[in-house]
Amino acid sequence: MAKSKQTLNSVLRGLPSVSDLLATPTACEIASTAGESHAAELSRRAVEELRREVLAGNQSFKRNLAGEAENRLSGLWRSEELSGLRRVINATGVVIHTNLGRSRLSDAARQAINEAAGYCTLEYDIESGKRGARGRRAEQLLIELTGAEDVLIVNNCAAAAFFVLTAFASGGEVVISRGELVEIGGDFRVPDVLTQSGATLREVGTTNRTKLSDYEKATGPNTRMILRVHPSNYRIVGFTTVPTAGELSHLAKEHGLVLYEDIGSGALVDLSSIGIAGEPVVADSIDAGVDIVTFSGDKLLGGPQAGIVAGKRELIAKLRRHPLYRALRVDKLTYAALEATLKIYRRGDMLNEIPTLQMLSMGKEQIATRVAQFLDKLNDKLGKKSDLKFEISDGDSATGGGAAPDAKLGTKLISLTHKTLSASRIEHKLRFGKTPVIARIVDDRVLIDLRTVNAAEEAELVESLLAI
Ligand SMILES: *Cc1c(COP(=O)(O)O)cnc(C)c1O
Repeated sequence: MAKSKQTLNSVLRGLPSVSDLLATPTACEIASTAGESHAAELSRRAVEELRREVLAGNQSFKRNLAGEAENRLSGLWRSEELSGLRRVINATGVVIHTNLGRSRLSDAARQAINEAAGYCTLEYDIESGKRGARGRRAEQLLIELTGAEDVLIVNNCAAAAFFVLTAFASGGEVVISRGELVEIGGDFRVPDVLTQSGATLREVGTTNRTKLSDYEKATGPNTRMILRVHPSNYRIVGFTTVPTAGELSHLAKEHGLVLYEDIGSGALVDLSSIGIAGEPVVADSIDAGVDIVTFSGDKLLGGPQAGIVAGKRELIAKLRRHPLYRALRVDKLTYAALEATLKIYRRGDMLNEIPTLQMLSMGKEQIATRVAQFLDKLNDKLGKKSDLKFEISDGDSATGGGAAPDAKLGTKLISLTHKTLSASRIEHKLRFGKTPVIARIVDDRVLIDLRTVNAAEEAELVESLLAI
């Protein structure tokens, strides 16, 4: 006992002090980027971590505690650096990938963000030289594209839904079909948002069938709103009924209620020509007489994160004056990106210029051609003796973002295997490369889908594969 205590003490004496560690080249390099005090903080953590392990009896590194402390320090710094926002190559084939930033922005939107980053006309009118309406250009483009009387832009669609429910239904009842009480993406549950807004939920009908008369029977003196929610990420098929937007609009008018539809994915144009069927088009809902429609800016629209509220003039005016608007409004970069994205729609060039739609519209043959060219390039560089093997297989890409869950996006996948490395090792190496490559693993194979990799990223992807 006494002996081991003595040993422990002598081991602890080998532990470097924080100032010793701070004098190492590793710490100096960290200090030059992160500043002295942060380098000191990380050094303290590294030494402390090591001391705890020594006390806990883990002495496998007791011979060189100074070197080990330096390793720990560099590890702490590295994981901090990795945790920042970094560009990645999305090789998953999931086009609207929420974890990877949802939609890739168009060149025009990127340029617009860059320009707006300095001073810009966010709330300034060049013609009069006076204060202007914030973000009005983007709103006007949306008015044009949706046919709505007016539009307001907030932080995201969840904020839009919360805002609309709070402004028009707080303290009253909201009638909604049981089939639409959905959860979208884990943390957006329609019933929870309703509760938060101070409205009371009045469920009607059944999961698969809700009739107009169900809505009518549920309407009473406390009813403020009829809510329709697009179930986005799932579909009920088979024996189903829901009233049309037009029918609900009549009912709402008759009873003096607001008819609100949360569309979510928000297609501005019909996308059935590129295989995205069953997604509601905003203009159709407005046409059918829906009073307020909300949708995301970064799902099928292919723009920046935003929540768009489109609808009747007097309702939007009420939202614009509401104190919550100040808390939910967006910044100049969002308006800039949105304006640029919407101008592409107005020109009719969305399928070519908006990356989300362009990637969704790629046919299997087009991808097959790219895969063949890509593998030619790769094999040239790799040589014959490589341990890395590639096969081409059929598969599906995904729309993602809780939109069009049943769309079939046939693709050609590159399937990677290695003589000695497991699929998870390969995936790990790709993820830790210079530009992280995010890929899927299915049945012990790493799968790469070029649908979501653009031509400019292919050279980098080749480098990452060579580095395996
Ligand atoms: C995605 C979605 C939302 C949430 O949109 P965010 O822009 O992510 O906040 C809300 N409602 C529906 C129907 C959706 O599909």
